[in-house]
Amino acid sequence: MTSALRSPDPERLQVLEMEVREEAIIVRAAITTLGAYCPLCQHSSNIVHSHYVRTLADLPCSGLPVRWHIQVRRYKCLNTSCSRKIFVERLHPGAPAYARRWLRQKSLLPLERLREKQQEQLQKLRSHDNELNMAYELAQRFRNLLNQRSSAGFEQWLEEALACDIAEIRSFARGLVRDKKAVRAGLDQPWSQGQVEAQVHRLKLIKRQSYGRATFDLLRVRVLHPTLT
Ligand SMILES: [Zn+2]
Repeated sequence: MTSALRSPDPERLQVLEMEVREEAIIVRAAITTLGAYCPLCQHSSNIVHSHYVRTLADLPCSGLPVRWHIQVRRYKCLNTSCSRKIFVERLHPGAPAYARRWLRQKSLLPLERLREKQQEQLQKLRSHDNELNMAYELAQRFRNLLNQRSSAGFEQWLEEALACDIAEIRSFARGLVRDKKAVRAGLDQPWSQGQVEAQVHRLKLIKRQSYGRATFDLLRVRVLHPTLT
């Protein structure tokens, strides 16, 4: 499976089931360890009060959004002098309380676009996880190549990406090798095929609107003389 679907916290978080739907991939998971610390008084508890499902968005996989549905437990705080009677167990630092997405989903953003707290969390994750750190560096460097619109450094990047430990990045790099001339031209040239793509899209749209109802002559007029129809 791809790293997007690997458990971000394999020691505690177990993937129970994965469902590939048309619009998204749903990963159902649960925390395997029993017991948690009250965030207010730091006392440990293993008395479960109730469960609920926490939803977190993750990096997309094969073009589909990935959503984690994680069974999370509420615990009773056993410290009688604590004002917090019930608390929710915490997930990995990559999913701070109230976060709607795994922090790694932000790992494609450059540091300057993250808030200070997010920068700290990202740095923490990168120092704990070599794979994430490598993916972040390669993604940022590729992003810079695109932003600078220059293929200088592309060969070096490609070489490192092809040799890295992350299967998804190797596969992405192999795809770029197959299309290398076009990729280099895309980086170096100021031209884009956006205009052509838009015209093709327009042609298909008009063709489908009249599917089964009009002849080629009408299609021709509608494409070439849009003001007449
Ligand atoms: Zn407490």
